[in-house]
Amino acid sequence: MDNQKLATLLFPHLKHTRSYYEEMYPKRELDEKAMVTRFAPSPTGFIHMGSLYASFVSYVYAHQSKGIFYLRIEDTDQKREVENGIENIISDLKKEDILFDEGPTIGGKYGPYIQSERKEIYEAFVYDLILKGYAYPAFESKKELEQLRKLQEKEKKRIGYYGKYAKGRDLSLEDIQKHLENKDSYVIRLKANGNFEDKFEFKDCIKGKILLPSNDMDIVLLKQDGLPTYHFAHVVDDYLMRTTHVVRGDEWLSSVPVHLQLFRLLGVKPPKYAHIAPLTKKIGEHVRKLSKRYDKECSMSFYQEEGIPTNAIKIYLATLLNTSFEDYYLSNQPASILDFNFTWKKMSVGGSLFDLTKLLFLSRTYMSRLTAEALYQEILPFYREKDPSFYQTITADAIDTIRILNVERTGKKPRKDFATYQDIKKHTWYMYDTYYFEDKQMPRALIKEEYDLSLVTCYFKEIYDVQDTKEVWYEKLKEYIEKYQYARTVKEYLHNPGKYKGHVGDFCEMIRVFLFCSLETPDIYELLQILTKARILKRLDIYKKI
Ligand code: GLU
Repeated sequence: MDNQKLATLLFPHLKHTRSYYEEMYPKRELDEKAMVTRFAPSPTGFIHMGSLYASFVSYVYAHQSKGIFYLRIEDTDQKREVENGIENIISDLKKEDILFDEGPTIGGKYGPYIQSERKEIYEAFVYDLILKGYAYPAFESKKELEQLRKLQEKEKKRIGYYGKYAKGRDLSLEDIQKHLENKDSYVIRLKANGNFEDKFEFKDCIKGKILLPSNDMDIVLLKQDGLPTYHFAHVVDDYLMRTTHVVRGDEWLSSVPVHLQLFRLLGVKPPKYAHIAPLTKKIGEHVRKLSKRYDKECSMSFYQEEGIPTNAIKIYLATLLNTSFEDYYLSNQPASILDFNFTWKKMSVGGSLFDLTKLLFLSRTYMSRLTAEALYQEILPFYREKDPSFYQTITADAIDTIRILNVERTGKKPRKDFATYQDIKKHTWYMYDTYYFEDKQMPRALIKEEYDLSLVTCYFKEIYDVQDTKEVWYEKLKEYIEKYQYARTVKEYLHNPGKYKGHVGDFCEMIRVFLFCSLETPDIYELLQILTKARILKRLDIYKKI
């Protein structure tokens, strides 16, 4: 076969040859150790936890090594595309703060970053393979391919287009010419040169050494619509975009023989591969894949609705990436996740269990370490969008809100009851008069018969002084209650319960319920300081009326 004739016949209007693009996209000028990674989603929906994890892994390795992380949209399967697919992906990544250095919206020297805009580039490379005798057109219809499958099933043979079943290999130039004149649809296939019986050793960054069969399938490179298959686009793009590490789901592991063969036939060095197992979930004793359909924690909208900080999600993903990150994070206060030295070797081979409880635990730690000012800044966008009325409340007096957020924050054991931004309202609403005085908020069910409103009111009128230090405040409180048969300590009370109406804990409980509508609050002293005497008395006043 005259390859040159065949190539010209198939691509009479080829714009540029392969070398043109190789010159246009030269080797990147980066440090030797710098990794170039990418996130390459198909625009088929929204980002979910699994894809976020994959992009996070790529992002971390690139940025840790002072390399490049870019976004490439793989839209060559146009049947699977959904409306606004690209926009959704970009906006989800932005919300989760996974920033890419190059990509469809921001551009970059190695674009276009949307595969459907790279048609001519793929053609140049297919042309090159045809010239070398490594690719050919095949004209089988869907029906013929279906018949082939049935035949192989009957003969108990491997399914596929290979060896003696690859009839397109036998076509002469004249046959091809005739098909083209008839305008028969065709695909371009790889002329595979492997033998399935041969095994070769492949080293994956995560999974280590693996034996794989050599590829003998004449897979499709260009489809009937002229767009490339994933296999071919991946090879061309990752070569020209100078990717050093391909991080992707391990469903692609079985395609490695095809990909390596393609790199070899094109005469270029393949990137390193890191295949990650899917995130899993434990239900009882059973472990299964985390599912978009069944698990709320798989969808990013869950995190956005709850207000789970993106930084907390990243910290959790970092613990999945290298489990030792958890200890590091808990015993240090790293300014950035990237301060930790992540390595491929420490990644889990079999997949990681996704544990929402652990994520929330880390989120509590994360939120407890923020200064009140930083926390305030973080919650603003969330409430602006999700709860404008609370947003108005917290911004009406920012200084007061920051004081509220600062309660039990600066000591040795800062409070850890905030795991989400929603929790802020849940645990602080009662500090705001607008919410406190809403009738429905009154803690009627909590008020016990033995509560003594006048004892509490009198304490605040006569004894309480906002100027007192914590020690003085507590001493004065205990002195006061003792006069009214409340024990100064629980121990004293237990020693002689008949002598007392209750103990200091019971008195504080009344304060909590009357003033903060709850049995559990952080440090009362700090809360009272923020309320001040006038507001305290105004609050107690309403109970007289019920
Ligand atoms: N577009 C492919 C997918 O969504 C990407 C695989 C890869 O990262 O190479 O599965």
